[in-house]
Amino acid sequence: MRFPGDGLSTSELESVQTTEITTRAAEVIHRCLRLASFSEDPGSTRRTFLSPPMRECHQEIARWMEPFGAQVRIDAAGNFRGAYPAAQPKARRLVIGSHLDTVPNAGAYDGILGVVLAVALLEELRGRRLPFVIEVVGFSEEEGVRFGTPFIGSRALVGRLDEELLGVLDTRGISVRNAIEQFGLNPTEIPQATLQSDVLGYLEFHIEQGPVLENLNLSLAAVEGIAGQSRLEFTFLGRANHAGTTPMHLRCDAIAGAAEWIGTVERVAREVSGLVATVGKIEAKPGATNVIAGEARLTLDVRHISDEIRGRAVEDLSRQAQALAARRGSSVRESTLLSQPAVAMDSFLLGEIEKAISKTGCKPHRMVSGAGHDAMILAEKVPSAMIFLRTPGGISHDPAESVTQNDVGKAIECGLYLLDQLASSPEFNKRTNRA
Ligand SMILES: [Zn+2]
Repeated sequence: MRFPGDGLSTSELESVQTTEITTRAAEVIHRCLRLASFSEDPGSTRRTFLSPPMRECHQEIARWMEPFGAQVRIDAAGNFRGAYPAAQPKARRLVIGSHLDTVPNAGAYDGILGVVLAVALLEELRGRRLPFVIEVVGFSEEEGVRFGTPFIGSRALVGRLDEELLGVLDTRGISVRNAIEQFGLNPTEIPQATLQSDVLGYLEFHIEQGPVLENLNLSLAAVEGIAGQSRLEFTFLGRANHAGTTPMHLRCDAIAGAAEWIGTVERVAREVSGLVATVGKIEAKPGATNVIAGEARLTLDVRHISDEIRGRAVEDLSRQAQALAARRGSSVRESTLLSQPAVAMDSFLLGEIEKAISKTGCKPHRMVSGAGHDAMILAEKVPSAMIFLRTPGGISHDPAESVTQNDVGKAIECGLYLLDQLASSPEFNKRTNRA
């Protein structure tokens, strides 16, 4: 186990270049690495919902934000909220954020970078006030590590941290409600954490957590939407029998049937642009070297930005599983574990992000997020959009997770152009949300 940033030479960490943006980018990276040291585990980063190091994390971000006049609070769901005032009173607000919790043995940037970048953008305004309040939000929980349920922080902002969720227990029998109380917060004040009708939009910077931008040699991408997701379980039924005495033509092998179908899954997904399909888990019964499998249970995960294409792919794979089993004289059972629709990002913000990316000299690439993010939850209530940063090696959820100083600099530039565009856009400042 090790902390993110271990192994980076001092010269790499301190290669501060002359321009202001690259200096700021270096500071962003330093700050992410500093927050990574606030951990529940010695020697590696793990910071789950309202664990003690989350308090240190809040205090550190408050120390960065208070000097430039931001009003800082922790809401009743444990989210960090820092509001940078507008040019005039009673202004509406733009929310910029991401999550502060991590997986076990985490990297320094997943989630955290989005919060640290938001603070850097406010610092780069150098006291200039915009027509809207800018609220930085560091969500308390996105990964779902402590309670097995993700997005607790962002659900509070859309009014969905309900009684049922408050009652969910962690492995020590502590409920979400108890955890909130133990942190010194009051669960009855959760309604006050909800976004009001004054919110103009939500922006989230996040590492891509995949290989696409690196493959295209691009720093940034505008996220057009978050893919919908189906999760199913298929059980291929065969006949368990002796592996030595049952001739090949007289057996009904559940694993062999499942294997044929797994090949079909890969083939079908490769034929449709943007479709990803994965059999991530397989379990055979009885599970012995000298016994033909009587049962093979598999999971299937299918994702696409079009719910229609995803639905058609699931139907096709299901039909092919049934046909294959019938041909082999066996049968297959299936059950749906999850069917989550795709979430589109706001088209106006998407267009503005593309303009801002172009101004930085980068190609404004548009892509779909295959993973869920807080923006997906916020989009239920406010116009939301995301900007991805290239993830070297596509590696995340690991101490080796990284970003480059150049890409962080491009993200800061993009964010500043975007704020300028939004500040001067009559269309944006007149928008209403669904609160
Ligand atoms: Zn994340």
